[in-house]
Amino acid sequence: MIEVKMTPEDAALEVCRIVGAAGGHAYLVGGAVRDRLLGRNSKDLDLEVYGIAPQRLLSLLGERFPLDLVGASFGVVKLKGLDIDVSIPRRESQSGLGHKAFEVQSDPSLTVAEAASRRDFTINAIYLDLLTGAVEDPYEGEGDLRAGILRHVSEKFAEDPLRVLRGMQFVARFRLTPAPETIAICRSIGAENLPPERIFEEWSKLLLKGIAISAGLNFLRETGWVRYYPELEALIGCEQDPGWHPEGDVWTHTLQCLDAFARERTGDAREDLTVGLAVLCHDLGKPATTRFEDGRIRSRGHDEAGVAPTLSFMRRMTAEQRLLSEVLPLVQAHMAPVSLWHSKAGDNAVRRLAAKVVRIDRLIRVARADAIGSGTDPNEPILQDEALQWLAATAERLQVAAAAPRPILMGRHLIARGMEPSPRFGEILKRAYEAQLDGAFTDEAGAIAWLESKGMREGKPPQS
Ligand code: ATP
Ligand code: MG
Repeated sequence: MIEVKMTPEDAALEVCRIVGAAGGHAYLVGGAVRDRLLGRNSKDLDLEVYGIAPQRLLSLLGERFPLDLVGASFGVVKLKGLDIDVSIPRRESQSGLGHKAFEVQSDPSLTVAEAASRRDFTINAIYLDLLTGAVEDPYEGEGDLRAGILRHVSEKFAEDPLRVLRGMQFVARFRLTPAPETIAICRSIGAENLPPERIFEEWSKLLLKGIAISAGLNFLRETGWVRYYPELEALIGCEQDPGWHPEGDVWTHTLQCLDAFARERTGDAREDLTVGLAVLCHDLGKPATTRFEDGRIRSRGHDEAGVAPTLSFMRRMTAEQRLLSEVLPLVQAHMAPVSLWHSKAGDNAVRRLAAKVVRIDRLIRVARADAIGSGTDPNEPILQDEALQWLAATAERLQVAAAAPRPILMGRHLIARGMEPSPRFGEILKRAYEAQLDGAFTDEAGAIAWLESKGMREGKPPQS
C-alpha cells in the first residue's frame, strides 16, 4: 500500500508502469487528454488498460493502491482518494451483471480503435501514452479540437441519448461548432429512459462551466431536443418590444443573459447554479403574458407568471426542494430591483424584498445578467447600474444583503412576559415580524415596547 500521498499524475504514471511491466498497455483517455491538449488541468483522470486479464489487473493494482470497486459492474475500478478511474474496455455497452461484469465483459484484447468507437465525441476519444507521450487518435479528435468541432465518434452514438445533452454542455464549454452529421444523428435520437439526475448533471455543467451557454442552448434547439423543454421552447418567437429589447425574441434575450451570467460567475458552485437557473428561467412567464397593448408589446406580470413554468421545468430534473425554493423567488422578483428604484422605495420595501427572496445579493446578479442581456451590445454600460448599486448599498446598510431580516421578537420574549405557549404565539410573532419589516422597531427594547403598546402580554388578546 502507498503510504505517502501521491499526486494523481504520479499515481497515473505508476499505473502505466505497473501495467507495462506486466506486458500490457495503459492509456490516459477521455476528458483528461482533451483538457491537456487545451492546456488545462482536469479534476479526474481516466486510464484504460489493454492486454491484461481483468483479475490480474485487479491484483496488481490492489498491491499498490487502495481500490474502490463500486463501479466494477461498469468495468471500472477507482483508486481511492485519487480521482483516478482505471478500466478495461468492454465490447458491449450493457451492464447489469453486478460486480462480475468486470470479469465477464471487460475485454483486454480489444484494440484502441474498437474501444474508442464506444466513446461519445472525437475530442473525447484521444488516447495518450503517459510513458512515451505518444498519442493514438483513431477518430482524429485532435484536429476537431483545434478546429473547434463537436463530432460524434461512430453510429453507436445513438445507443445512449444522454450523449445529446453531453454535446450541449461540451459545445458551451469549449465553444464548439457541431458537425452537421452530429446534429443529424442527435435529431434521430429520442430522450427516453434518461434518469433525471443524469440529465440534471449535464444541465449543471452547462450552467457552471459553459462559457458560451447560448451555443449550448442553440445546439439543443438545432437537434430538436428543445421539444423536451416546452417552457424553453415557448420562448422561441415570443416577441418583445424592440424599444426595450432590440436584441429580438425572449429566447435570444435569455441566451444573451446566460452568456452575461457566465462571464460573472463566482466559482462557488451552489451560488452559481442557483443564480444560473434563475437567469435561465427568469422570463419563462413571458409567453403566457405577452400582449400588444397601448402601442407596445408588453408582458405585464411575467415575473409572477414565471413561477409555474420554472417549477415544471426544474421539477423534471431535480427533487431538491432547497434549490427550488431558492430559485423561485429570484424569478418571481427579478423586476424588483429596478421597480423599487423607480418608485424611490424606502428601507421597509427593501426589508420586505429581503424577507421574500432571502438573498438580495443573488437577485442583483440575476438583474445584472438581465440588464446586460438586453440590447445588442453586451459591452455597453447598463442603464440599470445605478438602481442595482442603490439596492446593493441599501441591503448592505440594513444587513439584509445575504439573509432575510432576523425576527427580533421571539417566543422566549413572550414566555418571559408571562404568556403560555399556545397557537396564538405564532400569530403574534407573525404580526411582530410584519411590524419589524415595516420599521416599527429595530431592536429588542423597541420590540417589547411595541408588544406592550399592542396590549399583547400576559395572555391578553391582541388589539389592532
Ligand atoms: P468532464 O470534464 O465533464 O469530466 P469528460 O469528457 O472527462 O468531461 P466524463 O463524464 O468524465 O467526461 O467521461 C470521461 C470520458 O468517458 C469521456 O471523455 C468519454 O470519452 C467517455 N464517456 C463518458 N460518458 C459517456 C457516454 N455517455 N457515452 C460515451 N462515452 C462517454
Ligand atoms: Mg471527466
